[in-house]
Amino acid sequence: MIRPRSDIALMAGYHSPQAEVAVRLNNNESPVPPPAGFLPALTDELASLSWNRYPDRAALGLRRAIGDLHGVGPDQVFAANGSNEVLQTLCLTYGGSGRSVAVFEPTYALHSHIARVCGTTVAVGERAPDFALDRAEVRRVLADSKPAITFLCSPNNPTGMVETEDDVRSILGLAPGLVVVDEAYGQFAPWSALDLVDDDTPLVVTRTFSKTWSMAAARLGYLVGPTWLVEDLSKVVLPYHLDAAKQAAGRVALRFRDEMEARVAGLVEERGRLAAGLGDLDVDLWPSGANFVLFRPRRRDGDEVWQGLLDRSVLVRNCSGWPRLQGCLRITVGTQAEDDHFLAALREVLA
Ligand code: PMP
Repeated sequence: MIRPRSDIALMAGYHSPQAEVAVRLNNNESPVPPPAGFLPALTDELASLSWNRYPDRAALGLRRAIGDLHGVGPDQVFAANGSNEVLQTLCLTYGGSGRSVAVFEPTYALHSHIARVCGTTVAVGERAPDFALDRAEVRRVLADSKPAITFLCSPNNPTGMVETEDDVRSILGLAPGLVVVDEAYGQFAPWSALDLVDDDTPLVVTRTFSKTWSMAAARLGYLVGPTWLVEDLSKVVLPYHLDAAKQAAGRVALRFRDEMEARVAGLVEERGRLAAGLGDLDVDLWPSGANFVLFRPRRRDGDEVWQGLLDRSVLVRNCSGWPRLQGCLRITVGTQAEDDHFLAALREVLA
């Protein structure tokens, strides 16, 4: 019988319990669909596609539109099937056997998982007790492991913490290889590392259409980085990996930038309301620059609280068994009605 590589056989894989519930606040998705004009415009685009032909292999129209959004040319943009595929392509290109990446835990689990699947060694650094980067630890990990890629996540999933510009600049000065700043939640945060990207800096910023653009179903993500890096990645990614429908969906979505920005502003405001509601309950919570909030019931077991919420038809992310996050739960900012339902359910469970 064929068996997977021994390191893959030992892996746990990606697990995120799903359930049919009234209030789904576990995946950091947008609580609302794209604007009303999106679907008719996309339908028009789909009707004019040459379905018998392969798509634009370089996805030039989409990359140009993304570049316009950020004030860079298409040659500084690489797009893929979700930002996870962007991260995977980075690991395939710059990681692999004999190379390492550095991560600072707790952080987005897929950084180390994807690196390992690509055969890369993962050097794990610890964050400070408040989940901020610890400069001495960063220096130690980078000096010891000399990583080909150093992963940061800002705002960090699942803590919600925004890395400081000072920290990112300092890591750029220390890291021997590429620095990846995963900004899947970047639009919710007060600053972005996008301004630090140029052809002379080994830095990429990854973004996604899954959250702020209300398009998790489409699986579309991208990075902005140096031109030479985009050329490297294009040698590695499979030919025609981005289908024509997805390219069209991305181009059409970008026509609704004002609506996206209004949606983000609304969610940031709602995040404040949700955090204030949580602050009135018997939980510890962490400040968030994203569309989710990490909290920990002070006197109750995390698993029990998670189950109690599920019994009241509210699904949140249960982080309580994750290393360094004992007893923690993560809630996505939803609509006002969803968040009120959650707060009422939590109040009951904690009572
Ligand atoms: N990075 C981070 C930090 C995330 O939280 C997520 C989604 N959970 C992703 C990347 C992947 O997003 P997608 O593949 O949907 O673009």
